[in-house]
Amino acid sequence: MTNEMNQCTYINGKIFTANQEKPYADAMVVRDGKVVWIGCQADLGKIDGDYVDLQGQRVLPGLIDAHLHPLYLANAAKQIACTPPLVNSIEDLIKQVRSLRGAQGKDLWVEGWGYDEGKLLERRSPTRWDLDQAAADVPVIITRTCAHIVVVNSKALELAGITKKTPDVPGGQIDRDKDGEPTGILRENAKDLVTRIMPVKTLVENAELLAELSDVLLGHGITAITDAMGRTEPTDYLEMYNTAVKKGLKQRSALYYIWEDLKKSPMLEKEKTNLENQIHIGGVKLFSDGSVSGQTAWVNPPFLGEGENYGIQMTTEEELLAAGKAAEQNNLQLVVHAMGEQAIDFIVDTFYGKKGWLTDAPSIRIEHAAMPTPQALQRAAETGIAFVTQPIFLFAEIESYHNNLGAERTKKTYPVKSMLEAGIKVAFSSDAPATAWADPVNPFVGIKAAVTRLAYDGTDTGQEQKVDLETAIILYTRAAQEITRIPKVGQLAPGYHADFIILDQDIFEVDQEKIDEIQVIETFIGGNLVYKNETLAIR
Ligand SMILES: [Zn+2]
Repeated sequence: MTNEMNQCTYINGKIFTANQEKPYADAMVVRDGKVVWIGCQADLGKIDGDYVDLQGQRVLPGLIDAHLHPLYLANAAKQIACTPPLVNSIEDLIKQVRSLRGAQGKDLWVEGWGYDEGKLLERRSPTRWDLDQAAADVPVIITRTCAHIVVVNSKALELAGITKKTPDVPGGQIDRDKDGEPTGILRENAKDLVTRIMPVKTLVENAELLAELSDVLLGHGITAITDAMGRTEPTDYLEMYNTAVKKGLKQRSALYYIWEDLKKSPMLEKEKTNLENQIHIGGVKLFSDGSVSGQTAWVNPPFLGEGENYGIQMTTEEELLAAGKAAEQNNLQLVVHAMGEQAIDFIVDTFYGKKGWLTDAPSIRIEHAAMPTPQALQRAAETGIAFVTQPIFLFAEIESYHNNLGAERTKKTYPVKSMLEAGIKVAFSSDAPATAWADPVNPFVGIKAAVTRLAYDGTDTGQEQKVDLETAIILYTRAAQEITRIPKVGQLAPGYHADFIILDQDIFEVDQEKIDEIQVIETFIGGNLVYKNETLAIR
């Protein structure tokens, strides 16, 4: 009987369940894709049906990336990675652009991602004139690590019709030299002047890229994802992701639609927001500021450097409330990007004391939450606002945090421990590829960064805000489920999907400095083996 029910028992594992009531186990029974029993092998009794010997390996629930940009990440894989080890200087960048221009021919845009002027030898942003040296005859666009700033060459400016006379757009800035000539650097909304004229991939082409990315994510143990930049135009993301599923995308996925797109047709069909669907719309996304590393976060006190730069406010109270209304009407979350003190206060104060509309999860999420004030922490906790943050940012971008904030203020950013102590629901995530790191989506880099609070070069990023390893894993699993609302994932407990991963080293035993070297041997979704690292295979 039980065999026909598709049952498998896993024995001899070191299972961390992320379930508060029973965090550790060594055996687990999976039937029809779900965990039906988990606990101590001695209590298991006679094994019914198939079994797998986990040979003492560490098992974790499948990891959830609560804030990710899968489509950008998939596309970035085809572009120049303007980060170490490939690009350490503007000179290197010029070389790479020239070489991709040569390889691609004259009909395609040359694209790159991930530069961070803090990491470049010249300690400045590249400009149109640098890129012109590399390729003057085709348009070139290089996206900064934060994804909020681009630098383009003269050809791209020409195609976009950007000249000395072009005014700045609301919520954006065209950088200019002392003669008023655009430098090629376009901040926030100004980058749309160029991105809107770029050739768009078809829905099917993008779906294929997403399916390819799915395997990469499974290799990192990621079994559930989000897309924090869902669009309705030029292609609808829900349709694109559903097409990707047919081509092999395995992850359970929540899409957060950009408010600018959604407000054109604010009421969604119920089926699109059904959490039980592998792909569903989970939230309404908007931006209240930019980034710390790009000096566009809406901060107070101002950034270091010349003048009093408090960053950019990117939305209004009216818009925020309207987006919240739309979220409420569709039973969705309001997902707001906010990094600086003022940006976070703005959201928290707008909703302070108001009751949330969701009953199963936080109605409002603040994404990144780099610099919450003590008052914001207290008010967010009281209002039930969740924070979704990225420990990899400080780890990978330490130079720009130091340049823009100084070492002491940097140590106080992303106060994860204080957030948790205040009673705020927190989840970890990567925001990949918006990080200056060659493998930005790797959750083990984020976990290491959270437990050590050290940057990649060993710089102290604030020992007071360290969390313990169990907590770090929970923020990538159970807590991420509680915030993303993707049903029945994030812990291994009866009734939950059998989404789990097997590691090559025991994360609880390994030196914390080496957590980022841990590799995933196998990944299971719904009890099915969906990824196997052949070089590490144990069976
Ligand atoms: Zn993001």
